[in-house]
Amino acid sequence: MTLPIAGNWYRATRIDADTTLIIEPHIHVLEQANLWLVEGRDRDMILDTGMGVVPLKPFLDTLRRDPDKPIICVSSHTHIDHIGAVHEFDTRLVHPLEADEMARPSGLHSLFKRDMPERLLQTFLDAGYPPIGEMLIEALPFAGYDPENYRLRGAPATGLLNEGDTVNLGNHLYEVWHLPGHSPGGIGLFERATGILFAADAIYDGPLIYSGPGMSVAAYRETFAKLRTLPVTRVHGGHDPSFDRARMLEIIDAYEKRWDAEA
Ligand SMILES: [Zn+2]
Ligand SMILES: [Zn+2]
Repeated sequence: MTLPIAGNWYRATRIDADTTLIIEPHIHVLEQANLWLVEGRDRDMILDTGMGVVPLKPFLDTLRRDPDKPIICVSSHTHIDHIGAVHEFDTRLVHPLEADEMARPSGLHSLFKRDMPERLLQTFLDAGYPPIGEMLIEALPFAGYDPENYRLRGAPATGLLNEGDTVNLGNHLYEVWHLPGHSPGGIGLFERATGILFAADAIYDGPLIYSGPGMSVAAYRETFAKLRTLPVTRVHGGHDPSFDRARMLEIIDAYEKRWDAEA
């Protein structure tokens, strides 16, 4: 099978003065995560790092107003589509429940469908994702790239983020919220001054994944109860376009109903 060569691996869209969304358009939609760059007064933050098919930090440095400013890398959780380039950053933060997984990834770590457990493939189909082809990539990053050589490297955390901790960029202060259900140590970052929530895979406007290793509907229900109480105005999720509070509540209602029916 021959894949086309991608012109650019990453695509960046500026969301507001300090926030840029980065995606990997040539990854199958199922593993095409949102990576969020926030440029702060004192330091920048990258929330999640994609699949790690090609280096991310050099690309970020072309976007950043000051590439010499310190940048901290926060992993919302440790699925393959969120920690691929974590090893490129000097400061690496994650929830303690997923620190081991980030240091030594044990889950999916290949681009090939043949390496994905049947149960996982079925979970994605059940959730509503289109089937994947032979590989998770739909283009090569450059001529001569060999997808067989892809590795999910991971990297040990340099610090841990628990609920109640904060991430301070100087002019942006984020509260850490523990949002398990999709994964045991999933976290969201909430900026109370603006009501913006970076929710990662706890909630996005697409098929949520709640049954599989490390996942729990009971925990997910508690996470949703927590989200209802937060004065959220806008949600930037781990996948798919951003949405407002009304849409957040619609999504929560729909999944709670679904889980009631499945119980
Ligand atoms: Zn994801
Ligand atoms: Zn995930």
